[in-house]
Amino acid sequence: MPVAPGPALCYEFLAMPSYAITTFGCQMNVHDSERMHEVLRRAGYAEVPAAEADIIVLNTCSVREKAEQKLLSEVGRLAKQKRARRELIVVVAGCVAQQEGERLLKQARSIDLVIGPDNIAELPRLLDELVLGSPPLVRTVFDTDAPRFLTALEVVGASPTAFVTIMKGCDERCSFCIVPHTRGPERYRPSGEIIAEIAALTAASVREVTLLGQTVNSYRDPTRALSPAPGHAGGHPQTPGASTDDPDESEFAALLRRIAAEVPALARLRYTSPHPRHLTPSLILAHAEVPVLARHVHMPVQSGSDRVLKRMIRRYSRAEYVERVGALVRTVPGVTLSTDIIVGFPGETEEDFAATLSLVEEVGFKGLFGFKYSERPYTPARKLGDDVPEDVKSERLARLFALSEALLGEHLARLAGTTAQVLVEGLDKGDGLLWSGRTERNEIVHIAGAADRQLAGEVVEVSIVRHNKHSLQGELTAAARAATTPRAPLHKTGPVASHSETPGRRSLPVLAGGLAGGLAGGIAGGLARGA
Ligand code: SAM
Repeated sequence: MPVAPGPALCYEFLAMPSYAITTFGCQMNVHDSERMHEVLRRAGYAEVPAAEADIIVLNTCSVREKAEQKLLSEVGRLAKQKRARRELIVVVAGCVAQQEGERLLKQARSIDLVIGPDNIAELPRLLDELVLGSPPLVRTVFDTDAPRFLTALEVVGASPTAFVTIMKGCDERCSFCIVPHTRGPERYRPSGEIIAEIAALTAASVREVTLLGQTVNSYRDPTRALSPAPGHAGGHPQTPGASTDDPDESEFAALLRRIAAEVPALARLRYTSPHPRHLTPSLILAHAEVPVLARHVHMPVQSGSDRVLKRMIRRYSRAEYVERVGALVRTVPGVTLSTDIIVGFPGETEEDFAATLSLVEEVGFKGLFGFKYSERPYTPARKLGDDVPEDVKSERLARLFALSEALLGEHLARLAGTTAQVLVEGLDKGDGLLWSGRTERNEIVHIAGAADRQLAGEVVEVSIVRHNKHSLQGELTAAARAATTPRAPLHKTGPVASHSETPGRRSLPVLAGGLAGGLAGGIAGGLARGA
């Protein structure tokens, strides 16, 4: 069959191909974008500003409709550019790519390649095909039989924090959620690979790692190399109260213990996003016994109404959620909790929403991401109809945020006069005179009076002087100041553009069996608000 001519691409383009990536969505997408950066750089592509790029990759999110609309308006904008520059290649990657596949090509003729999250390693080969005249391509195949996790080869910027993927896909069937459709079934990464990546990151001076997964705490080691947690015989759940439908009861906790034991240089360990169903007794025990685990857990609850939780197919009741996080709070003194909440789920009444507000107060969340329900294709909740009016959703979201801010404000106010261990992430945006970091409990702390010290990546003791709306301000204690090293004088040439003082990328030590992959510095959702 004759092949239709591809986009007007020239071979000159092969000499110096350049690209830009725009990322929409969650940490998982940020992480996927970093892997694309590495794959492309290793294939000889150079990153440039989007306006100058030969290839534009839009890495998309489809959890809510708004993100999808943003993508389509960006594609429309690029279509205009493409009329002036026919050689421009437009790539749509990520969840919308996986969700829409071939349909995207019909919807927007300016798109040249649609590529799913499991096909990132094939990106250079597919671009080569396009350059050689292929018509637009679609590659959205899940790697279900042989799951592949691209390993980080670089640390982005000077960030002391990094994400490490431990599982992908989702086997939960929450009625509102498109993720099982866009990310496929759960697949887990061998624990040895995870440990090797974390060890390499810490050798490259990363101090804090956030383990990533759609339901990160349902992790199971496909190589069965994890020894069972204390109280567990042969890896089967033995902990009193452990749910019998959690065959993985000990596995995530065992992974955390193994990371702590085998990577002692790691200063902090976090994970996101867990599912409350897998907040098992063995995981709670690990939080009490593994010092490297940060005393903050982001545990999405979605609603405080049993009626809504049931319709969401969350598979826990409000009382079960409260019981499990209550056990965590009792076992781990000072632990802070944050959460995700959806307002305006189909059929949500004022009474249901009042139950959500009362749950937020009862648990005392120190931060939350709140979202207006967005009807998504392929989700069971579509059948329920999107019946809560937009203005009611907006009004409920505003009330939720007001309560959340009040709770956070009270919490932060109580911390004035205390000291905290802060992992410093970099210089604050703005005039660059404040260092910024986070406590174990995920409170953001700005450190004044230390612009002359080199603090990036250090865990320092800070006296908390006052609180702001969403953060704390403090000063180094005398002992911490004495223990730090001086820093080169500041050049006051304008605002500091990024948290990283020395932007760029540092290579990691070579990892056994690793292919290209990447890491994004950054913070797991915590005390920030959602949209
Ligand atoms: N692991 C998480 C959990 O336990 O549900 C899922 C993470 S999801 C990618 C991030 C958040 O987006 C969810 O927790 C939920 O609050 C929100 N979300 C997902 N689908 C949504 C929808 N259809 N409308 C509004 N918010 C949604």
